[in-house]
Amino acid sequence: MSTDTRTTCPYCGVGCGVLARPGAPVTGDPAHPANFGRLCSKGTALGETLSLDGRLLHPEIDGVRASWDTALDRVAAGFAETIARHGPDAVALYVSGQLLTEDYYAANKLAKGFLGTANIDSNSRLCMASAVAGHRRAFGEDVVPCTYEDLEQADLVILVGSNTAWCHPVLYQRILAARDRRPRMRLVVIDPRRTATCEGADLHLPLAPGSDVALFNGLLAHLSLTGGLDAGFLATATGGAAEAIRLARAETPDAAATAALCGLDVRDVARFFAGFAASERTVTLFSQGVNQSSAGTDKVNAIINVHLATGRIGRPGMGPFSITGQPNAMGGREVGALANTLAAHLEWERPGDADLLRGFWRAPALPARPGLKAVDLFRAIEAGKIRAVWIIATNPAISLPRAGAVRRALAGCGLVVVSDCVRDSDTADLAHVRLPALGWGEKDGTVTNSERVISRQRAFLPPPGEAKPDWWIIAEVARRLGHGGAFAWNGPADIFREHAALSGLANDGRRLFDISGLAHLTDEAFENLAPTRWPCPAGGGTPRPFADQRFATPDGRARLVPTPYRAPAQATDARFPLVLNTGRVRDQWHTMTRTGKSARLMAHKPVPELSVHPDDAGPLADGALVVVEAAVGSAILRLRHDPGLRRGSVFVPMHWTDRFCPAGRINPAVNAATDPLSGQPELKYTPVRLRPFLARWHGFLLARRAFGAALADWCAVLPAGDGAWRHELAGLDAPEAGFARLKHLLGDGAWTMLRDPASGVFRAALLADGRLEACLFLGPDHMLPPRDWLVGRFAAGVLPATDRRALLAARPADGKMPEAPVCVCHGVGAIAIGAAITAGCRTVDAIGRATRAGTNCGSCRPELHALLDAAPRDTTDHEPAAALTAS
Ligand code: SF4
Repeated sequence: MSTDTRTTCPYCGVGCGVLARPGAPVTGDPAHPANFGRLCSKGTALGETLSLDGRLLHPEIDGVRASWDTALDRVAAGFAETIARHGPDAVALYVSGQLLTEDYYAANKLAKGFLGTANIDSNSRLCMASAVAGHRRAFGEDVVPCTYEDLEQADLVILVGSNTAWCHPVLYQRILAARDRRPRMRLVVIDPRRTATCEGADLHLPLAPGSDVALFNGLLAHLSLTGGLDAGFLATATGGAAEAIRLARAETPDAAATAALCGLDVRDVARFFAGFAASERTVTLFSQGVNQSSAGTDKVNAIINVHLATGRIGRPGMGPFSITGQPNAMGGREVGALANTLAAHLEWERPGDADLLRGFWRAPALPARPGLKAVDLFRAIEAGKIRAVWIIATNPAISLPRAGAVRRALAGCGLVVVSDCVRDSDTADLAHVRLPALGWGEKDGTVTNSERVISRQRAFLPPPGEAKPDWWIIAEVARRLGHGGAFAWNGPADIFREHAALSGLANDGRRLFDISGLAHLTDEAFENLAPTRWPCPAGGGTPRPFADQRFATPDGRARLVPTPYRAPAQATDARFPLVLNTGRVRDQWHTMTRTGKSARLMAHKPVPELSVHPDDAGPLADGALVVVEAAVGSAILRLRHDPGLRRGSVFVPMHWTDRFCPAGRINPAVNAATDPLSGQPELKYTPVRLRPFLARWHGFLLARRAFGAALADWCAVLPAGDGAWRHELAGLDAPEAGFARLKHLLGDGAWTMLRDPASGVFRAALLADGRLEACLFLGPDHMLPPRDWLVGRFAAGVLPATDRRALLAARPADGKMPEAPVCVCHGVGAIAIGAAITAGCRTVDAIGRATRAGTNCGSCRPELHALLDAAPRDTTDHEPAAALTAS
């Protein structure tokens, strides 16, 4: 019997430890300091995502299977030829926060050190580049000063632009559990949307999209006018305070001016200011809502400014805390795999650093200046300036803004190489060469989470097909280009030791990123490496960043940066009156290549939705299909009324791709404005308008196999569980023609049918030997019957006569309908939860005891809170705070 392997979740930047073995459910690692055994719904479902369906298992050239030698020769020759004819800046790599640190290191070393181009950027550009730029401006180095324990020790936790409850669920549960233990702790959420995270908040500030800088400038002005500054810290450890404060006072002199700029109630702003002033132990956690903005870097610095101004940094329970979206965004920052950074936190701008790296790598070709950041990099491909690109473990044809143009750029590029574990993706479909990479559970190396903890990802599955580690693929191309000596690694331990040694190069405390204490790990010690937080220098110790009030600037002082408030790059107008905000949903990750395999996870949000305040929806009905149009593109989505949306804005998740819902891809509509310093795109603010999608029919098809997502003008396909695939459909052709076409697809057999052309209702069920094979429902609008009972019939074997007769009604003879689960882990739905509330459950914990809902990963606890709040009584299990100020 195999034993559990200790490894790390491949999804978000919380970096939870997991225990895994083939064929068994994945569980949380009780010994891991990020999660102490807890997992969210995505982590819990990891075991359901390990099938080899859709995997790329062999190298391919132009869609035809090739040997590794042939494919690698083609890549090396293509890059060599392009560089010879057009120079090194005619090639590029686009990599990913999904990569292990060792893979990331190898890619960066190849590009910057040996191809001689700085045109290597990461999809982390979309995630936390503004945080990186803000840290470097303020601290002189990209250092996240906080840990998860600081969140638990804080008296005030401020979550800015972060739906933590859905996007970093385990961390959110740690915060709520800490507040249960320490009721003086207060939680403030700053977000234009009322998200699930707000269910646990003492104060929600639904500020106008993009106005975060004004809010934090207002706070800085307030602190400066009310004796709230730490004059000693400012004098000894910082510079730039006078100018930052002068600007803040000029723009936002008081709560009223701040409230006006931010579109907030002045009393809420005053409460926030007073709460901050009174709570020395304050952590401000921020995420994509801050970073993904044309003013993202200023937002980050506005947040850091108030921490520096109050000296709330470098001590327990306080500090600005950038939380990363991706599992190894931090590792990518360590190895310098962004176009404007060098390895090991060396800097182009710091005299001598580039020479140090040149010498260490023996890489004379190291470029003299930064390369193109993601959006500009793909613009250069579009313009024909970059002629060969190698895309590793990411899907820019769907994830970048203005994604339609990215797709066209790749289609016109001379050489597109894709290394991935997935064969078909919006990007891989455009590749000339596909290289099969190992996936999670198969690869081996390290990742670093948001609190600077390096953890091992270990393999517990055999390599499938001919798939190889990314570092090996990169090293083989390097060898073919004549650089084999610099890439002669035997495994990830070799690369990690080199990376660790580089971090200590001429360091002497100049750079906090120093893991030289790990540079001499034996292979065995690397294999057994326990989670380790950096810095861990060769001299020992794990100093808390900035505890000594020294920063990585030339004079050792942190910088307060004046941050003038700037409106988002594109303004709404009469043509495009609404603001499109994009983000994540609770149970999906990125482009769904893994989470989309789990019927349990897909059940939470089966199709892409657009949420809008009911007052902005006008005549558009809840559940209808709408076209969302922007200047650069459009998408078709299921409309949801959500009173939690701020008036004037809409929200759309970014997960759906060609494979799951071609018309539901939102990034072709998102504008490509970027922050001038960080280059991070403004994924949270695109002016749009809505109109109805005038389908002539709506429908769904349930079948034992997937028929793809091109069955109708609008189509979403997903695994439905019980061996069934669900296709949600809408068509512009005549209903009768659509019905005939779809029915023909399923073939002849024992069909039961109901056809009513006058009302546009068509229903059919196909049985084989008494088992349900497929059912097809079409109607004139989106008000179609529920699918859940029908889906359950696919697992029921030979159907009893009562069920067969009930198929076209889509409900059982006894009328007892199953329901979609609120708690995905235990399959508990709203009816059972409602019954528990009616029976007297007054808290989320009480509901958990009665139904088990919310007792595993906790991801649904905000929804349980919402159901309690909707009940006609006071049901909260945490006393609402009258004021933020803790006594
Ligand atoms: S919070 Fe969830 S998605 Fe994030 S690392 Fe933990 S288990 Fe994975």
